[in-house]
Amino acid sequence: MFLRRNAIPVVKGTKDIFTPEIELIDHINRTADEKYRQYGYKKIETPIMEYTDLFARSIGTYTDIVQKEMFTFSDRKDRSITLRPEGTAGVVRAYLENNFSFNPGITKVHYNGPMFRAERPQKGRLREFHQFGCEAIGSMNVLLDVEIIELHINLLHKLKLKDFTLLINSVGDKNCRKEYTALLDKFLRKNKSKLCENCRSRADTNPLRVFDCKNPTCQEIYNDAPLLTDHLCDECAGHFEKLQSWLKLKTIPFSINKKLVRGFDYYTKTVFEIQSTLLGAQNALLGGGRYDYLIELLGGKPTPAVGTAVGIERLMIALKEQNIPFKPDHKAQVYICTAGNFDEKIVIRLMDHVREHGYIPFYSYEAKSLKAQLKEADKLNCSFSLILGEEEMKKDQIVLRSLEKGSQENIDLNDFKKNISDYLKVKN
Ligand code: AMP
Repeated sequence: MFLRRNAIPVVKGTKDIFTPEIELIDHINRTADEKYRQYGYKKIETPIMEYTDLFARSIGTYTDIVQKEMFTFSDRKDRSITLRPEGTAGVVRAYLENNFSFNPGITKVHYNGPMFRAERPQKGRLREFHQFGCEAIGSMNVLLDVEIIELHINLLHKLKLKDFTLLINSVGDKNCRKEYTALLDKFLRKNKSKLCENCRSRADTNPLRVFDCKNPTCQEIYNDAPLLTDHLCDECAGHFEKLQSWLKLKTIPFSINKKLVRGFDYYTKTVFEIQSTLLGAQNALLGGGRYDYLIELLGGKPTPAVGTAVGIERLMIALKEQNIPFKPDHKAQVYICTAGNFDEKIVIRLMDHVREHGYIPFYSYEAKSLKAQLKEADKLNCSFSLILGEEEMKKDQIVLRSLEKGSQENIDLNDFKKNISDYLKVKN
């Protein structure tokens, strides 16, 4: 950090994003937008803040997110507001408030934006992070679960990511959960004294979440625990079987992880996660699942739905770890250098001309030696510099220097203007 005395730093767990990272993020977002379009999803933007009740009711009062991780404050009229920790709740609120249910067919939307969770910051875990994701609202059909999984796997392939694994599970519905919770409760009571403090508290408030514990002793104990996947009702078991056979049919490799429960209470039936060993401890790239009760819980008619959220920072870490070369696909950058006394009108006209043809002109704006200007061009990753020298200009000539090849030639200024795209060709 280069902080001067008295300077105010960025808020803990948040960060500034700029070149070159932001170019990779733009590339990821563009690729995702294109994929969502191919699968019929329309973009939606919901506010970054919502009334706190929306998250408490949807994510679940006894989840870690609602208990410990929300950035909540009162507005001037003492209403409790929260910076969104995830995207689904806001999308469902918008679906209900704007009557999307009257749209023909399934409502398919995708979103992209910052999320906020007061977690302990570490690699791949921030307090402000970015997600893109999608929601398909209005059908029980398992094909939608499969389609959403396939879409994101195709997206990871498109981004050339290789090292990732799809994990699936079913967390059942109200029917199977009632009986199962009694079984789990019995097991947890029997083993309570051996569990960590967090699991003991979860055993009372949100027992399914114990499986998320990272403590090896607890995990050892849970190896003998009854698992919901083995106690599904006929409908949920059928849905889970169909999910697996469709994934096989589509040749999408997966593993079943019966302890996969995810951090939200709203999930029903299908849950899934894509993990990557490239990420370290925070290994989940994306997560999602079905939430067939959420719309009713938030005041709508019973409406089944399924969705996913992808962590953009984690995706970026994985792509960087894999050293996937990425070259932003914009046109050549051209640095206009001057040598000697100059009427800046010539420079400005040349910059306009370069810009009009889709290239990106740079200029020093400050008086500098030619050597300093060329160094700056190099640092800015320009492909060319155009040198306006006093002597050459008398002959209506300029010097075109290729910074990639290190060669240069004198060319006629008018010819350059006429045939700019021939002169500014870059190797790809
Ligand atoms: P979730 O909304 O918890 O299902 O998370 C979906 C994805 O968002 C995860 O797989 C991560 O890639 C990303 N994510 C969740 N929490 C964080 C965080 N605190 N910092 C960075 N990325 C996160």
